[in-house]
Amino acid sequence: MIYVNQSVSGLRSRKRNAVAFLAKVFSWGCRLLLPVMPVVVALLLLDRRFIVQYRDYLAKFRVHFEALSRGPVEHYFNDVFFRFKHVPVTIHGECVQCGNCCLNRQCAFLEPIPGDKYQCGIYGSHLRRFSNCGSFPLHAHDIARYQCPSYFVAGEQPIAWPTKPK
Ligand code: SF4
Repeated sequence: MIYVNQSVSGLRSRKRNAVAFLAKVFSWGCRLLLPVMPVVVALLLLDRRFIVQYRDYLAKFRVHFEALSRGPVEHYFNDVFFRFKHVPVTIHGECVQCGNCCLNRQCAFLEPIPGDKYQCGIYGSHLRRFSNCGSFPLHAHDIARYQCPSYFVAGEQPIAWPTKPK
């Protein structure tokens, strides 16, 4: 029994290391490709504003990828990629567009709108559906790490998070 537990925890630790390595490779790749990223995104989304406003988006993508490398990439490979349909929690709530889950308002695609709210500039795109955003919130940890003021796991009380500075 002890032997089985040890091999299970060994497997888990190897998986953790592999995901951490994959996340690092992804982040390095994004940094390396940063100068061409507005063009790549423009092609992926068939949207030339990323080229027209190249300098603005270059600066935004720099911040975006930095924020992605601090946890969201690992979350993607651990919880989302080919997996999120199997996560068994039920979530309640309705988005109030605070922008917290958009990399704490550091997402390059986020657009401010009246009423101190934010909207996703690529909401209906395949890129968004394929990303972490398409599955948010996936579980209690997802809600907690962005202090989402709206969504909560069924059976638990919504949490009143302190207001985040803008
Ligand atoms: S943190 Fe919650 S309420 Fe805020 S934008 Fe994201 S889903 Fe909406």
